[in-house]
Amino acid sequence: MNLKKQGTVLLIGRPNVGKSTFLNNLLGTKVAITSPKPQTTRFPIHTEYIDDRGRIIFIDTPGIFGKAPDQMSSKINQSTKDSISDNVDIVIYMVDHTRRRDMEEAKVLGIVRKIAKPKILVINKIDNQERTYLPQYEFLKDEIKDFFEISSIKRKHLKPLLDKIFELLPETKEKIVTGDNVYPLLNVDSKTFIAELIREKVFIMMGEEIPYTSTAIVDEITERTPSLTYIKARILTTDDRYKAMIIGKAGRKIKEIGAYARKEIELAISKRIYLDLKVETDPHWQTTYY
Ligand code: GDP
Repeated sequence: MNLKKQGTVLLIGRPNVGKSTFLNNLLGTKVAITSPKPQTTRFPIHTEYIDDRGRIIFIDTPGIFGKAPDQMSSKINQSTKDSISDNVDIVIYMVDHTRRRDMEEAKVLGIVRKIAKPKILVINKIDNQERTYLPQYEFLKDEIKDFFEISSIKRKHLKPLLDKIFELLPETKEKIVTGDNVYPLLNVDSKTFIAELIREKVFIMMGEEIPYTSTAIVDEITERTPSLTYIKARILTTDDRYKAMIIGKAGRKIKEIGAYARKEIELAISKRIYLDLKVETDPHWQTTYY
């Protein structure tokens, strides 16, 4: 009997290189979610791809290298490294040739270099040839022998990449059920799931002082059209001072938190969402909601 392949692939890259788009388009609707755990900065969402060859578990890195305050970014980097050393079989390092290499890119590469696992370089957005900094990324091809130039949006060259992933993954004796209906959908207690996800983003973006004084509540989930879901949620915090911190200068922080949460929810439910997210002070939320 032919053994199936199974393993974990870490997807790593700067924000906006196209990681979510890649996962969405590679997996289509075949996305399975494991619930985020409260108060962790570990990868909340694992997506699975299964076909006759076996199972690939993708984990996405928190996409905020460089943006977070130093203390937080070092913390995330630490948690990233911990997760990697634990149980990753392959690293996919994704770059966007339409943007210049910068400090942030250098940081991501620094992390990639520290991981002693098979690596695949993926140059994304090759459909866009109007602006390219490809020469700035060429040297990576010497360093990482397996590389692919793809377009996540146009689903170009995804198949050879998938073939390579399966080739590199270890064999498993586990029986993997393939076929339809093996993917759990997000329906059990979606409000809690989404609230947890938002709360986790507050934790990641704000540092440790805030999360224990705040929570997230989802008030409404309405399917506006078959492809667009409206979600109304609130972040509750105990003090006006924290509220101001979460909102940030000119609302920038809450926008980042919202955008980050929205992306993951969209990935989770394979639909576009409109996330209506507000921050409120409620000194008593701990007694009201728990
Ligand atoms: P992430 O932050 O790495 O998850 O990046 P996203 O998946 O959110 O993508 C960031 C932006 O790049 C979005 O506007 C995408 O539509 C765009 N994008 C992603 N993949 C491609 C691609 O293959 N080609 C082009 N032209 N744009 C892409």
